[in-house]
Amino acid sequence: MTKFTVEGNLYRNGSFERGCLAIEQGKIVAIKKIFKEDTHLNVGASLILPAGIDLHVHFRDPGFPQKEDFSTGSTAAAFGGISCVFDMPNTQPQTISVQALTEKTHLVSKKSHVDFGLYAAVCDENIGRIADLSSLCAGFKIFLGNSTHSIRLSRQNLLVALGETNRTKKITLLHAEDEQCLKTHEGQAHTLVDHLRCRSAECEEIAIRDILQNSSGLSSPLHICHLSSCEGFELLRKRPSNISVGVTPHHLFFDVHRLNTKQPFYKVNPPIRSSFDRDTLWYGVNNNLIDIVESDHAPHTVEEKNVDFASAPSGVPGVETLYPLLLAAMKKGQITLDRLLALLCEKPAQLLKLPKGKIEVGRDADFIVVDMKKTQTITAEHLHSKCGWTPFEGFSALFPSMLFIRGEKVIDDHQILVKPGFGKRVGE
Ligand SMILES: [Zn+2]
Repeated sequence: MTKFTVEGNLYRNGSFERGCLAIEQGKIVAIKKIFKEDTHLNVGASLILPAGIDLHVHFRDPGFPQKEDFSTGSTAAAFGGISCVFDMPNTQPQTISVQALTEKTHLVSKKSHVDFGLYAAVCDENIGRIADLSSLCAGFKIFLGNSTHSIRLSRQNLLVALGETNRTKKITLLHAEDEQCLKTHEGQAHTLVDHLRCRSAECEEIAIRDILQNSSGLSSPLHICHLSSCEGFELLRKRPSNISVGVTPHHLFFDVHRLNTKQPFYKVNPPIRSSFDRDTLWYGVNNNLIDIVESDHAPHTVEEKNVDFASAPSGVPGVETLYPLLLAAMKKGQITLDRLLALLCEKPAQLLKLPKGKIEVGRDADFIVVDMKKTQTITAEHLHSKCGWTPFEGFSALFPSMLFIRGEKVIDDHQILVKPGFGKRVGE
């Protein structure tokens, strides 16, 4: 691809400056004040920011095409300014074998509009075959407690499993809710408050304590997904440097007491907790104690969700609203741009060893263009996930007007400009 330049307000080293990016063969090759190639794009007063990376999505492909597939899920990601997603293994078939991972890679390669990586699950059955899986996956996922279509690893196998994944040097992500504890509190949940009681913070606390005990001395990255409680937060406040912590937008923007508690659409694992837990997570986000914001995009159809509370599946969509919600939060002064970019771009790139996540010479030209004056209201009808609804209906958001991935314009003026299959596999 020939060289072209993009001019706008660049955020570098803590402040905005007018500048130009020169892009060649998908990479940023120079950043200068004035720099005009024949192909020059001036984005006016809009900001040029690194594209987001979502290290936790469930695109349901293969297996659940009524909820989502990789084409629709990656379209939603692109419209939300996400250039790269990492998909969870609880698809059908589950990605727990070399064959399933190979087949899923082929399938997804033909469908994705954004760059992607695939995780393999570590469960009781495949614990001896981790090394075989590692060349095909971006990392590993361990479910310590049951969740939607999850693949569980028993507590007694955690030490061996973490030792095995540590040897691969790849990231291991953990769903930290203890199965035994969940069983103890099991019961019919008819409201969000019941659901909270059935999946108490104690279950998160026990699982995190187990992870900390069983990972001492390990050096490869371990990531605790979707932290939800202040109890869990306290345990992780002082943690080894290889352990990172993620939170989701739904745990940051909702608390159970301000929701209609009979509403199954907000049923999610781990559950939405109290305002105290929510404020603790914001404290962590703003004080460098939480590393990542991940969507845990878990689409279910309106028909599947709109049933009695006990029968409704757990999970909410969120890949398209992740970055726009946080940009709106930044505009309101809830978070600084430095923290936002660390959480959505820099740290995920570092954990997955990607040449992305920063506007810097030598990195992939993955960036968004966003006009900070154009606050929009989120409505499901303008989103692109197949599931057709959002928990953030009516929230303020700042959607990017353009997305570039590896120097290629992917989104412009509400259009997707690349074909399915444009997205490349990363993290192998
Ligand atoms: Zn998940």
